[in-house]
Amino acid sequence: MADLYPTQRAGYRGRLAPSPTGLLHIGHACTFWTAYQRALAHNGTLVFRNENLDPQRSKPEFAQPMMEDLAWLGIRWQEGPDVGGPFSPYEQSRRRELYFEVWRRLRDGGFIYPCTCSRKDLAMSAAAPNDADDEPVYPGRCRNKISEARNYDVPKGVNWRFLVPDGEPIAFDDLRQGRQSFVAGKDLGDFIVWRRDDVPAYQLAVVADDAAMQITEVVRGADLLKSTARQLLLIGALSLPMPAYYHCDLVRDLAGTRLAKRHDALSLRLLREQGLRPQDVLAMCPS
Ligand code: GLU
Repeated sequence: MADLYPTQRAGYRGRLAPSPTGLLHIGHACTFWTAYQRALAHNGTLVFRNENLDPQRSKPEFAQPMMEDLAWLGIRWQEGPDVGGPFSPYEQSRRRELYFEVWRRLRDGGFIYPCTCSRKDLAMSAAAPNDADDEPVYPGRCRNKISEARNYDVPKGVNWRFLVPDGEPIAFDDLRQGRQSFVAGKDLGDFIVWRRDDVPAYQLAVVADDAAMQITEVVRGADLLKSTARQLLLIGALSLPMPAYYHCDLVRDLAGTRLAKRHDALSLRLLREQGLRPQDVLAMCPS
């Protein structure tokens, strides 16, 4: 399949965007290796972005091992926290101003509304959903608050949801998984872009960063296909350029269980300690 959004902008720009919530495992290794290979094949630039936005889940002590493990695998990047001085623009925790600006644009455009539904309802949105995306469709109880959005100068204190256009198809051609189509309001509901505890949600941050970093191709796991549909709605609302998408097959064990979901998912650290070489690890990736 031909690249949909090839390299016209600033040449090919890809990214590695791990969250420092634990040690990297084989699934990460395979996805990031693919991202690296695609950047190499396009003679492109690879950006390392530390997605440490969620203070509850991110642990600073995982950031360094993440980079070390990827470097051990042989992956190299041209932009990232470890390249170019002590102030790093490649850590999401330092990019709040950008996310706030995006929130303002969404609010001014009438795309988001404050939601006061209960915490239980809302638990799922700050992190990237990391299974076959089981976030329930939001029933829409606070949709009528769209007219109140402009009363807010700052997002803090309520959850902010993107009003999805019910019934509208969202389709894209994935460079690995082929044609994808979702229906707004059915496959995915009004999703959170900013959390009540004042943390920008994954969907907003990733769209803002991919645009600001001029990412031309997003390579990530197929567990995020539905998130891509949400992100396309944001990209449309913000009139941003759409990157190409390449969603890698997920790594499963022999019983078909997705590796990341297993509690004993093998960390790269452990495999290294057991004496495996990078090529042994990469040999476990789906072809
Ligand atoms: N940081 C996300 C994760 O580790 C991935 C984000 C992305 O590639 O869009 O699941």
